Amino acid sequence: MRLNHPIALAALMSLAALPLVAQEPDWASARQETLAHLQTMIRMNTVNPPGNELQVARFLDSTFRAAGIETHLFEPTPGRGALVARIKGNGSKQPVLIMGHMDVVGVERAHWSADPFAAEVKDGYLYGRGAIDDKGMLAANLETMLLLKRNVIDKGGTLSRDVIFVANSDEEQSGEWGMGWLIANHPELIRAEIALNEGGRTRIVGGKRLYVAVQNTEKVPHTVTVTAHGPGGHASIPLAGNAILRLGRALAKISDYREPVQVNATTREFFARLGAVWPNREERFAMADVASSDSRRVQRGARTLARTPVFDAVLRNGISATIIQGGIRGNVIPTEATATLNIRTLPDQSIDGVVARLKRVVNDSLVEFHITVRGTDAPASDFHSPMFAAIRESAQALDPTLTTVPYLSTGATDSARLRAWGMQAFGLLPFPMNQDDEDRMHGNDERIPLTSLEFGTKMIYGAIVRVAR
Ligand SMILES: [Zn+2]
Repeated sequence: MRLNHPIALAALMSLAALPLVAQEPDWASARQETLAHLQTMIRMNTVNPPGNELQVARFLDSTFRAAGIETHLFEPTPGRGALVARIKGNGSKQPVLIMGHMDVVGVERAHWSADPFAAEVKDGYLYGRGAIDDKGMLAANLETMLLLKRNVIDKGGTLSRDVIFVANSDEEQSGEWGMGWLIANHPELIRAEIALNEGGRTRIVGGKRLYVAVQNTEKVPHTVTVTAHGPGGHASIPLAGNAILRLGRALAKISDYREPVQVNATTREFFARLGAVWPNREERFAMADVASSDSRRVQRGARTLARTPVFDAVLRNGISATIIQGGIRGNVIPTEATATLNIRTLPDQSIDGVVARLKRVVNDSLVEFHITVRGTDAPASDFHSPMFAAIRESAQALDPTLTTVPYLSTGATDSARLRAWGMQAFGLLPFPMNQDDEDRMHGNDERIPLTSLEFGTKMIYGAIVRVAR
């Protein structure tokens, strides 16, 4: 490492204060090793379904065992895998868990400029399905474990807590063979005080690393069906009560309706901190408004921020129509028609309350609402906790201009299960990315900037070293 580099020197000095660290890792070789591990995992096709994550679990198992790290390898059902590895601490604090999922979503091969499973490096990027979701995290977590073993344990140092590594299956589908299976079958192996999972963001805005969003809570997904009833008959005689048209009227009312703005502790802190550094002046004022305790300012700020769909989505319960069904023949008036709504409630909000409001808005006794899937709410993790502080310190040691904010994600993650189970779970995506690169998650030409892979690995290693000192 170059000691004359101010950031590297600052990172070294802050780590040198920790008794457990013998020396700063050799990042030049760690960078190569992390890239090679990530390429190996991308080349293993784990598109779920079917998943076939066992191959990745076996690779992780052999890599850990070669480094002298304790592992537990499971095959929850044929072809699926779960891998738990552990580095023991002195037990003065409860364990910390770092986790990632081995499965990936499918690809539209024709829209990729690179083979999604070749793990090709082009122009400073590594291309491949899973590069940012979530094999990049797995590679960074793996490297963190290897560096802890080599730089702390093998050098005679100690950790204040066990560090547990989990790689699970089936995150992109039900989770039945993933975290849900591990919690049900091997809770003793993964029980920890704190978990670091996917689910956050490290965002480059205007070419500059701006903020690290650490997910500490998430919206809760529910499925609600809306069914309109009406008289059936021959299409040659139009009927006023036509179920499809009735459903159309109901959906038009739902489309005009918006749930009220709700600011909670996480979103208030998120907008207050982000507002201090946000480049756009109008949005900067709007963020300060939303973070204020004046309800008129909150409404005004929310109106401006609503132009950005994701900001709007974190400020209210969200209603998206996703499926529409009705009719059997082109000349038959059906007796019913159904739309499916995906509703995401903010934490502590009741889906029954949302549905009651929708019924009032639609105001039609021949339109029925049914909650067919209820999500599970979980308490938010504490953004004043040592883990949150460790992430912030680690990020700042790498780039003092980075702001760290707590973040309510609109998407659901395995962290909800862990929070409901009593753990403090935080979501990261430690790889700095601009919007374009981030949008490739689950999309075409998914890729990770090589410099971001290194940055993210350092951020996780630095955070774990700090929380386990
Ligand atoms: Zn993921």
